[in-house]
Amino acid sequence: MTTRKVLRCGTVFPGCNFVSHGETDAEVLAKIAEHAKNAHEMAHISSALRTRMMAQMESEGGEKGKH
Ligand SMILES: [Zn+2]
Repeated sequence: MTTRKVLRCGTVFPGCNFVSHGETDAEVLAKIAEHAKNAHEMAHISSALRTRMMAQMESEGGEKGKH
């Protein structure tokens, strides 16, 4: 039932290998915002940047179990 979301930071910050996973778009965005603050010194995610991130959001396959 649960479709996990994934967002690759490299799609927004080229060269970055960080990947954010979450149950919802909001969770993924929250994680990548925290990462961006620490790794990219972006204290605030602008609405334009958020829109770009949302456009890059992907769904993970619905495999059972956890890795
Ligand atoms: Zn990054």
